[in-house]
Amino acid sequence: MATIAELGTRIELVSMDSHFHDISIALYEQKRERSRVALVHSYSSKDGVSERLDAVVDSMAILGGLERLDSDSSEVHFACGTWHRAAAKRAFLEACKLASDQAAEARPLEAADGRSGQEICVQGQGSGRYRVYAEGAEDESKSRAPAIARGLAKLAELDLDDDGVTVAFDCGQDHDEIVGLLLVRALNLRATLRDDAAASSRGTLAAPSAQEQT
Ligand SMILES: [Zn+2]
Repeated sequence: MATIAELGTRIELVSMDSHFHDISIALYEQKRERSRVALVHSYSSKDGVSERLDAVVDSMAILGGLERLDSDSSEVHFACGTWHRAAAKRAFLEACKLASDQAAEARPLEAADGRSGQEICVQGQGSGRYRVYAEGAEDESKSRAPAIARGLAKLAELDLDDDGVTVAFDCGQDHDEIVGLLLVRALNLRATLRDDAAASSRGTLAAPSAQEQT
């Protein structure tokens, strides 16, 4: 059995995968010389586990823009070389929600904001910068763009510009997949943060038994 030290630090856990025998699947972060990578791992020894993990990794690639380190490994990283932990965790959670035969689709950079009725659009400015626009606001003071930019900055650990509506990845590279993935979450920031808190407390409770499984 692989030790925890070899796996790295567990940063996210799906304690019951409803698409595959309720196994637990976890995301482990590992320090490498230049950056960090993550490993998608399960202690389950059921037949078909490696295919399930493969499907999760494939979905993470589409949803979050992560890449496999090697074609046959379940280790992933970001091509930019910077480790975007919050985005990796979100891509992992969303990937586990999909059945193995369900094709993942990258999320668009626009979404309707149900609460205000405004159309939110995020435009890439190059070099990892994204500007949030809101269409349909009566006047600028009612625009949801600043709130959504703050939400994106918080969820993806981005820098928020002084203009209040532009966010930037510190790696200076574009990450359309991450922005699309988190945009819907940023629209409902409070609910997202509540869900995350609930999920991580469940994860803590599930930790000892998950680590004992062979
Ligand atoms: Zn990056």
